[in-house]
Amino acid sequence: MEKINTVKGTKDLSGFNLMMHKKVCEIFSKLCESKGFQEINTPIIENSKVFKKTLGVTSDIIQKEMYSFVDQGGEEIVLRPEGTAAVARALITNSMLDNLNKKFYYFGPMFRREKPQAGRLRQFHQVGIEIFDEKNPFNDVESILIAEKFLKLLGVRDKIKLEINTLGNLESRKNYISDLVKFLKKNISRLSSESKKKLETNPLRILDSKNNEDKEVIKECPKILNFLDDESNFFFEEVLNNLKKLNIEFSVNPHLVRGLDYYNHTAFEFVTFEDKSQNAVLAGGRYDGLVSSLGGKNLSGVGWASGIERIILNLKEINIKKKIIAIIALSEDLNIKILEVLYKLNPLDGVVFHSIYSGSFKKKMIKANKLKSYGCLIIGNEEIKENKVIWKNMESGFQEILDLKEINEFLENKIAN
Ligand code: ATP
Ligand code: MG
Repeated sequence: MEKINTVKGTKDLSGFNLMMHKKVCEIFSKLCESKGFQEINTPIIENSKVFKKTLGVTSDIIQKEMYSFVDQGGEEIVLRPEGTAAVARALITNSMLDNLNKKFYYFGPMFRREKPQAGRLRQFHQVGIEIFDEKNPFNDVESILIAEKFLKLLGVRDKIKLEINTLGNLESRKNYISDLVKFLKKNISRLSSESKKKLETNPLRILDSKNNEDKEVIKECPKILNFLDDESNFFFEEVLNNLKKLNIEFSVNPHLVRGLDYYNHTAFEFVTFEDKSQNAVLAGGRYDGLVSSLGGKNLSGVGWASGIERIILNLKEINIKKKIIAIIALSEDLNIKILEVLYKLNPLDGVVFHSIYSGSFKKKMIKANKLKSYGCLIIGNEEIKENKVIWKNMESGFQEILDLKEINEFLENKIAN
């Protein structure tokens, strides 16, 4: 029969890989909760306007990457390609723009029709934060600080460098783009065909090109830093000075841009030292016009998102091993007692209870061993009559009898020690 596979660029998650995903999300949400961020969970399907009105018609996502379809009711629906515009939409939809605390975090799947490769999928997963507030450089610094801490907690910070730039305000950027276009037009013969097209539609994005010929031209391009007005300059200096005071290492990359229209001022990326197109692990910036472009009041914001798959590519090891405790009975007629014990056992952090029903006692013990069980709860005829079970430490072979009434406390102590 024909085998049906996953859609290209999507993956089933299970076993160790899924555990890593969950661990990354757990570390992330614990961190965010402790810093006063609230979780927000927006739908995977959105009205296409949420992204079309905000990301910019010339962005890669809108031009070629977004999954969209017209549903049975004639509505144009998209699978969300990113989280920021959706969170901004949610704030407006739910009248949250005047909430006292407007710091949010999210995680979940995003969808972009890209060429699949390691670290580049069509369904991938992001964690991200957004801080909506008045325009204040301390929010930019806080968002970078949280990213820094997140990568430290994951143990990957030493493999990754922070690059930062400013896109200035609208006025500065306009002046810069007109100079940039002049320069690129002079050098048009050296540009890739993709960048030639972008020269007409979205010249700033040429700076983000991963093509080697383009990279040579980009090196010689004018730099936005020379076009900043006082406001843009002051804002950028504030961010950089405070990062220095916090001893956060960074380098200014004058050619760093963000792919979406809604960004201005601060732009940053945490990238690995590898020279490949999927080296950005975490990326973000300031988006002052976003909320108003969706019909909300004029509220500024700054935030970032990070691809979980790219984080995992850089994880050396992460301690997600759980202790397995097997539950077996001396004979199969006692199997029902396994279920009684299983019901009695409360969930215990770091522990997995694994029931085994079939085969001889010897076979069951072999399976418990193969599972690398830390211990076994063994149900014997005589013991269970008195509401007791046998505990066997699989490493030392030591056995003792436990009262079922105290089983949860016993295991809690055992695991803690
Ligand atoms: P890239 O330049 O690698 O295409 P991007 O600028 O499109 O990235 P963002 O929109 O800033 O990416 O998304 C933030 C983060 O999400 C990226 O830094 C990356 O870690 C991750 N990411 C983006 N696209 C993908 C994808 N197709 N597959 C896996 N992770 C992704
Ligand atoms: Mg991309």
